[in-house]
Amino acid sequence: MDDLAIDTLAVRAGIERSQFNEHSEALYLTSSFVFSSAAEAAARFSGEVEGNVYARFTNPTVTAMQQRLAALEDAEACVATASGMAAILSTVMALLSAGDHVVVSRGVFGATQQLFGNILSRFGIESSFVPATDLAAYKAAATQKTKLFFVESPSNPLTELVDIAAVAAIAHEAGAVLAVDNCFCSPALQQPLKLGADLVIHSATKYLDGQGRVLGGAVCGSKTLVDEVLKFLRTAGPSISPFNAWIILKGLETLKIRMEAQSAAALELARWLEAQPQVERVHYPGLPSHPQYELAKRQQRSGGAIVSFEVKGGRPEAWKVVDATRVVSITANLGDTKTTLTHPASTTHGRISPEAREAAGIRESLLRVAVGLESVDDLKADLARGLALIDV
Ligand SMILES: *Cc1c(COP(=O)(O)O)cnc(C)c1O
Repeated sequence: MDDLAIDTLAVRAGIERSQFNEHSEALYLTSSFVFSSAAEAAARFSGEVEGNVYARFTNPTVTAMQQRLAALEDAEACVATASGMAAILSTVMALLSAGDHVVVSRGVFGATQQLFGNILSRFGIESSFVPATDLAAYKAAATQKTKLFFVESPSNPLTELVDIAAVAAIAHEAGAVLAVDNCFCSPALQQPLKLGADLVIHSATKYLDGQGRVLGGAVCGSKTLVDEVLKFLRTAGPSISPFNAWIILKGLETLKIRMEAQSAAALELARWLEAQPQVERVHYPGLPSHPQYELAKRQQRSGGAIVSFEVKGGRPEAWKVVDATRVVSITANLGDTKTTLTHPASTTHGRISPEAREAAGIRESLLRVAVGLESVDDLKADLARGLALIDV
């Protein structure tokens, strides 16, 4: 299927029909598989003959999801996991040992930061956090012990971009592997492996499902690297449920049109926000005012569906906008057809000290919108109601 467009792969890749020749992908809710003889059981267990054995590491529905996502990321292989964090943990456990070092871009997802910053250090794996946009800092942070570079682009909630091709070159020069958390763009807008990354990591919970129904995750890359992750998963068991894999498999079919529609709406909303007198600043990679607009055009197919903006004032003014909404959901989640609105300083980044938050650029006046599939006019009206309450 190498020569097919991403649109076609999204609905066609990974299909293997059963004896019934079903049109839609079958859901195999089974934990184990039977063998026709003792010899077949032995051959399957030893890996001499390929085939399903036990759903901790093989299930046909999960395989279909893995193949479809691999096709979309232009990856040789993919392994699905129970959640995005399970994907990150499995990667780390597969590739690193005590004494190794990781370079992480600052502003990664909160739980990712906790994992690298607090948990792995207990097992002798140290991490250095560097400013996402500072290439010299990535280079300076690498040591003899560095085995992994881990980045997220765009960052949450300020939409800072990591120059993936440049960081891949730095990682390879240091003899390390680059893993990119591609959750915010999805393969519909950004394909990190084509830019030189070695692994792509997903929280499938977000745009891949896209409808807020299930948890899931995945790791995509070369067969050699993915096989290492699969070996860990096979033993340790952070495996995805076939039901969740089926939901995500079907979610992938509409990924491209959802991402295109949600990004187009986000761009329109970002432009409108920039023109509002109560708005101090808009952070959106699709706007020429974004400091990395040129990189965004090179690296992403569009600006994505996440827009952050600062209102004039502080927390009381930002909260006025949140509390005046009637359509959008007040929640910290993202990657849904339903638009969500978050005040990061008091929710997702609420446990960070005010000084650290200020240093990271997450002000009290900042709001994040993860744009869904509602009418943009309704979204504008929903935000305009609260903005009108702010004195300028
Ligand atoms: C949500 C998220 C994760 C974690 O995924 P879960 O499926 O919630 O475990 C990792 N990275 C990013 C960027 C996320 O948004």
